[in-house]
Amino acid sequence: MNRPKEYKKLYLWGKEELKAAGVPEPDIDARYLLEAVCGTNRNTLLADPGRKISPCEEEKYQEYIATRKKRIPLQHILGVQEFMGLEFVVNENVLIPRQDTECLVEEVLRFLQDGSKILDVCTGSGCILLSLLHFSNYCKGVGIDISKEALTVAKENGERIRALPHPNDWEEDTVTFLESDLFESLTEKDFDYIVSNPPYIASSVIPELMEEVRLHEPILALDGKEDGLHFYRRIILNSRDYLKKEGMLFFEIGYDQGKAVRQLMEEAGYAEITVVKDLAGLDRVVYGIRK
Ligand code: GLN
Repeated sequence: MNRPKEYKKLYLWGKEELKAAGVPEPDIDARYLLEAVCGTNRNTLLADPGRKISPCEEEKYQEYIATRKKRIPLQHILGVQEFMGLEFVVNENVLIPRQDTECLVEEVLRFLQDGSKILDVCTGSGCILLSLLHFSNYCKGVGIDISKEALTVAKENGERIRALPHPNDWEEDTVTFLESDLFESLTEKDFDYIVSNPPYIASSVIPELMEEVRLHEPILALDGKEDGLHFYRRIILNSRDYLKKEGMLFFEIGYDQGKAVRQLMEEAGYAEITVVKDLAGLDRVVYGIRK
């Protein structure tokens, strides 16, 4: 390539490369990658477009752009994703935290009482549980997941969130992560809240997903089997044994699963079941109370 030495020129080059490779939102990704390389922010492009680029920065940027052209997710290149205003480490072993999931966390936070016990089923990166613990006081949380590799990421995130300034220091047992196929290895009971964003995409829909998701995110975190409802059925069936009376069960759901999950919860004896829409106006969260 012609070696551009100025910030904006390099950005425009990166954007064109990504666009030609069919990467969705090439402008945003080109900018984020350049900011990561140069330690700059979104203002730099406007305020200092002529900023000089060092050969080292240029080389790194070229490398990042080449990787992104292979449709490796942006977050796998950067190694982090922001969620609820907190920074979480991610890799190919966990689902990248989605903005949609903030809707679930915000709904739980409306009800969450200080000093409660929370269980996060299919915790992945731990983003849901750790956000809940960070934005509450004296709560304790257990995150379970079938994937050992995911739990390594969750534990690292636990240490990062623990290290953040927080009005009440976390105890040794504020958060625990446990390898478990749903509830199988869980001995603790009497949770006040169970939360879960389980895999909920029907197997038949997986081939239609974006390349970034289909080829680079863990299939284990996506595939909800035959009709996408497999894990809701199993979690709803067992959750009663792990919830206190009057405890609450919260799920993230796919846009077309509200009715089905509501019905499953009704059949299992949950009351006051509510379906909540996300900012796009789509069904996103279902919750109910264990009677
Ligand atoms: N709980 C994690 C998240 O919401 C992982 C969910 C999953 O793996 N299905 O990001």
